[in-house]
Amino acid sequence: MGGLYLGIDVGTGGVRACAIDAQAGIRGFASVALPAPRVDGNAIDQTPELWWQAALAAIRKLGDTVGLGDVTRIVVDGTSGTLLLVDAAGRPCSPGLMYNDARATREATRVAAVAPRESGAHGASSALAKLLYLLSHDYIGDARHAVHQADWIAGRLASHHGISDENNALKLGYDPVARAWPPWLDQLGVRDDLLPEVQTPGTPFSEMDPQVARSLGLPPTAQVAAGTTDGVAAFIATRADQPGDAVTSLGTTLVVKQLATQPIFAADQGVYSHRLGERWLAGGASNSGGAALLMHFTAAEMERLAPQLTPDQPTGLDYYPLPKPGERFPIADPTLAARVTPRPVEDGRFFQGLLEGIASVEALAYRQLARLGAPRLRRVIGIGGGAKNDAWTRIRHRVLGVPVSVAEQTEASYGAALLALNGSPP
Ligand code: ADP
Repeated sequence: MGGLYLGIDVGTGGVRACAIDAQAGIRGFASVALPAPRVDGNAIDQTPELWWQAALAAIRKLGDTVGLGDVTRIVVDGTSGTLLLVDAAGRPCSPGLMYNDARATREATRVAAVAPRESGAHGASSALAKLLYLLSHDYIGDARHAVHQADWIAGRLASHHGISDENNALKLGYDPVARAWPPWLDQLGVRDDLLPEVQTPGTPFSEMDPQVARSLGLPPTAQVAAGTTDGVAAFIATRADQPGDAVTSLGTTLVVKQLATQPIFAADQGVYSHRLGERWLAGGASNSGGAALLMHFTAAEMERLAPQLTPDQPTGLDYYPLPKPGERFPIADPTLAARVTPRPVEDGRFFQGLLEGIASVEALAYRQLARLGAPRLRRVIGIGGGAKNDAWTRIRHRVLGVPVSVAEQTEASYGAALLALNGSPP
């Protein structure tokens, strides 16, 4: 099998494009920045045309270094929960309400009254709350489709609108278990015909629009396939692909995600699952993590203390680091206080105690997912600022009891390109 496969990631700060060959080898990346969205209190929106222009520019930039005449398939991922209304021809009838827009508080209350607890549509930044907001604020006009950011970019590449995927559709209320739009959406007055047709991520739904293809130097036979969210694309980029494979993000917070063979939902702990074909990506987020470390040390101090760490000699300090009281997962307790005493005099030892504490929270998180139905943990791939700390990786290996590695790739655009190549999620 020859050909090239393109992944386009419409992320928070810009658009990145990645081309891979049939062996998943990276041929090139290109990126184009996006301007900051308009912020007015908790209203955060952007003109969708900016995303389209940035996507075109990123593909052209990629085309400057990688010949795109051989492209077989394209997949677009976007920020999760970013939504707009478009007319039958795909022209925007509303601004793009960004993933972190939280103006739809009243609408979130209406959703909460009818949606089951495990629905992905809860909260003021859910795509469904945004859709209800747009419908009650005269944006309806000629609106024919409610679409997410990735849906719309893919729709423009194909001149075929109203297609979404099972990952983006989750926050619009889609039921990934029943593989259907749930009946309770009727009670909210959401017209069936506004809801996108939902496909499995990676499923081709159209050839490219011939004019768009020509202007970008792509063959008109190139297929556009259903996309995913930026978070799922970043998971796919790590090459985790077997049930039990997990990805831990050691950023500001500690986020765990694991490939599972059945869906896992625990609304009280914020645990939910994305459908990946016949598999599931279960995930949960702890408030422990990098922000809790920054309460005690700067990044430069952590760097300086790293050589003093002794991963094979545990401190025995039994910490639960948190930046402020309150935890949701793996322990659902809104008042849980950080446990970071007694503090040894040596900074290096204290730092190690904190890292061990976070590793224990990570292990507890995976045990909790297993209790909820996840398969036995097989291996953990690390991403985020903390994953680069080698001594911490060794501590985590000891505490987790499975191989722990650092992701070679974390670019969502690479994950989208893998989806384009494979035609289905891992
Ligand atoms: P985010 O994208 O969530 O902002 P990053 O992935 O950039 O986070 O990671 C930043 C986090 O990495 C910080 O909160 C910091 O505590 C942590 N960090 C930075 N340097 C180190 C280090 N040497 N060891 C462990 N953690 C570190």
